[in-house]
Amino acid sequence: MAATPSLDLVSVDTVLPQIPGSMPSLANLPPGCRFHPRCGDALPACRLTAPSFIDGVACHLYDQPAQEVG
Ligand code: SF4
Repeated sequence: MAATPSLDLVSVDTVLPQIPGSMPSLANLPPGCRFHPRCGDALPACRLTAPSFIDGVACHLYDQPAQEVG
């Protein structure tokens, strides 16, 4: 989300954070979540199973129970 451009940029010189890695070839997509090679929060399940869309979100983390705070 940090790489999402904003109209509120203070300067045209502002550098957006980059997501490490490269986009996969569309002819050779990775198994599981297509984003797992570049995702810093990938779970073991992400390499095996594509996440389902739930409420417009497709991410295994969205299925996880909320962490207790405090
Ligand atoms: S399912 Fe979510 S956590 Fe897993 S690799 Fe994809 S974006 Fe990352």
